[in-house]
Amino acid sequence: MTVSKDRGQRTEGRALSGPDALFLKDCRAAATKPLSSVLCPLPSGLRGTLSRNVPMSRHTSWRAGGAAERMYQPADLDDLLVFLRGLPVDEPLYAVGLGSNLLVRDGGLRGTVLLLHGALNGLRLEADGSVYAEAGVPGAKLARFAALHNLHGAEFFAGIPGTVGGMLAMNAGCYGSETWEKVVRVQTVNRLGEAQMRTAADYEIGYRHVVMTRDVGARFIGRKNIAQQVAPLQSDEIFVASWLKFEAGDGALARQEIKGLLGKRIASQPLNLPNAGSVFRNPPGDHAARLIQQCGLKGKQIGGAQVSEKHANFIVNTGEASASDIENLIGEVQAAVEQQTGVRLQCEVRIIGEARGQGLP
Ligand SMILES: Cc1cc2nc3c(=O)[nH]c(=O)nc-3n(C[C@H](O)[C@H](O)[C@H](O)COP(=O)(O)OP(=O)(O)OC[C@H]3O[C@@H](n4cnc5c(N)ncnc54)[C@H](O)[C@@H]3O)c2cc1C
Repeated sequence: MTVSKDRGQRTEGRALSGPDALFLKDCRAAATKPLSSVLCPLPSGLRGTLSRNVPMSRHTSWRAGGAAERMYQPADLDDLLVFLRGLPVDEPLYAVGLGSNLLVRDGGLRGTVLLLHGALNGLRLEADGSVYAEAGVPGAKLARFAALHNLHGAEFFAGIPGTVGGMLAMNAGCYGSETWEKVVRVQTVNRLGEAQMRTAADYEIGYRHVVMTRDVGARFIGRKNIAQQVAPLQSDEIFVASWLKFEAGDGALARQEIKGLLGKRIASQPLNLPNAGSVFRNPPGDHAARLIQQCGLKGKQIGGAQVSEKHANFIVNTGEASASDIENLIGEVQAAVEQQTGVRLQCEVRIIGEARGQGLP
């Protein structure tokens, strides 16, 4: 692990300057062996871990896909701010949590992945009774923490194998609850390394849908154009923390509910094989799984990717699936369902990166 000498010192959000700000350029050469990541040296102001050529199959629940050109896992929030302030203006940036809703194409991902799982782990009960949870906290940990403090309403997070950041970005939900119903406020950072407090009023929030409102977005894009003429932001602002409100309840009952919900998932989902949960959004008034099953697509396979026999809206990696096997199967399912039912299924999973042959040198 590459650690700068001053690991442990507080940087207090200062920016890198002079030659230090060029550190990312030095981390651009391709790794010698394919699919072997290489650690890069860091200037003394940074305390995280910077690697290049990182196989995203290690960081996505499908266990498939190409490499990220660079990956930075910050030591904490201060460190993330310093990193962002030293970022070249043309550097594409992508936030990743547990990669449980993500497919990275086989040609890999240009730019830098900010890996927040294992990084922003703060979780505490605030004096006003809200729960402060940083972006890297897994849903299961949040649910257990809330139950431990006799709070009710966080149980559903236990079954979503993502981080708080990913759940905020997706408005993840299940069994009648959604992430943003629980949000009091969130903290975000932009690629200039500026932190903001935001509330639900700053976003358009719907079913697996969260985007900044036009007003906030317009102000933000105005700023962005000054600093960032070259590379558009993949994720406009990154969620770094949230304050969530739950009702007072009984911890033992909450734990029982968690157990029940997990049991339901084990019974209905193919959790023994790598997958990314539901691949398609449910169309209004219907279920994607029902339509896929009706079209006789259960068990359909391309390479190592297969429409699950257990749950038709899941695509599983039976062993050696490439990202293109998975993406091609998604395309075939979409085409077959549209042809047979007239419904065009929309992807819930995010597909990013370059196709094989068009990727990283
Ligand atoms: C077995 C299984 C079951 C699932 N069940 C459910 C379910 O019941 N309900 C449900 O809604 N989903 C479900 N999912 C999908 C997935 O777990 C959720 O979408 C989850 O919210 C993704 O979180 P993540 O940390 O893995 O995000 P990632 O997959 O890492 O990222 C997903 C998207 O969020 C963005 N993102 C991640 N972190 C941040 C951040 N800090 N700031 C800004 N953007 C960010 C990424 O850029 C990307 O666009 C399931 C997945 C699996 C594998």
